[in-house]
Amino acid sequence: MVICNSCRYCEGFCAVFPAMEMRRSFSSGDLSYLANLCHDCRGCYYACQYAPPHEFALNLPQTLARLRADTYAEYVWPRPLAAVFQRNGTFVSLLTSLAIALVLILAASLRPSALFTPRPAEPGAFYAVIPEVAMVGVASMTFGFAMLALAMGFRNFWRDTGGGPVVQTRSLLQAFSDVLTLRNLGGGEHGCNNRDEAFSQARRYAHQSMFYGFMLCFASTCTAAFYEHVLGLVAPYRLFSLPVLLGMVGGLGMLLGTAGLMWVKVQADPAPAAKAMLSNDYALLAQLFLAAATGLLLLISRDTRMMGVLLALHLGVILSFFLALPYSKFVHGIYRSAALLRNAAERPTK
Ligand code: SF4
Ligand code: SF4
Repeated sequence: MVICNSCRYCEGFCAVFPAMEMRRSFSSGDLSYLANLCHDCRGCYYACQYAPPHEFALNLPQTLARLRADTYAEYVWPRPLAAVFQRNGTFVSLLTSLAIALVLILAASLRPSALFTPRPAEPGAFYAVIPEVAMVGVASMTFGFAMLALAMGFRNFWRDTGGGPVVQTRSLLQAFSDVLTLRNLGGGEHGCNNRDEAFSQARRYAHQSMFYGFMLCFASTCTAAFYEHVLGLVAPYRLFSLPVLLGMVGGLGMLLGTAGLMWVKVQADPAPAAKAMLSNDYALLAQLFLAAATGLLLLISRDTRMMGVLLALHLGVILSFFLALPYSKFVHGIYRSAALLRNAAERPTK
């Protein structure tokens, strides 16, 4: 930071450099804030005259990625679970396998004959395989706990990075727009440097496809809950109903986005990457890919005898996703949004 603050060549690349220039010394809270403000576009690595083989060996994207990893463990709630960020790929894979096995065992013991029984996709067909009370109860508890843990993580980050108790509406709107448009991913114009000095928008497009696909799937779940609990319409719904259409488009977006991000990652130059973070990245991408793939498979096969098993498989993946939410790379979205909010609040108004 001290070298960059003297050099300032990358001033216009992203929000990190103007935020850095507002400081002369850097507390650990400042470093957490700057690390999470970085979108890892790698532009400053290829532009840097002090990058290897220079003797300073400055590798800002890698340094900030390592710092980000430290913040994930530092702000986690409850704190004793910080260790799961160290072997995150193993943790998420084990959790996913266990959750799938658990839901399959649950379905097989509660409704043994229903798992392989072919049934038309008429209202209540899902609850014939797994009772509503078990499905809704487990999902609500795990999702509720994940939201609480993420909120506590946000609070820890916000306090440590010096965020105040009051946030202006202007800052909120600016941060919201920065999150939705990924404004800082490669300055918004040229894109990222994934493989070398050449700019590419591939990462932006893949990330947006995954992000908006995820949001559509979330909207699909909320709409389905509204249908069931307010309108009294029980799932599964017709192909051209709102929850199914939202889920279908969202699921396809997630599949394309996660596959695209994995492809970008496999092709990327390893030099500016933090190797310790790769297993976290792949674990989250694989989880999101599996969630979308099993959801779409369930939709395609809901009139067949495979519906019961695919439903259990899909619910197992979703259960593991909820459980791992505060302890996986997913937290980058929370801390980066908080850093963008902090940045919007301290940025001078025009
Ligand atoms: S990354 Fe390198 S070129 Fe960019 S501001 Fe820092 S020292 Fe200067
Ligand atoms: S990697 Fe990109 S986003 Fe991160 S500090 Fe460098 S230029 Fe900014």
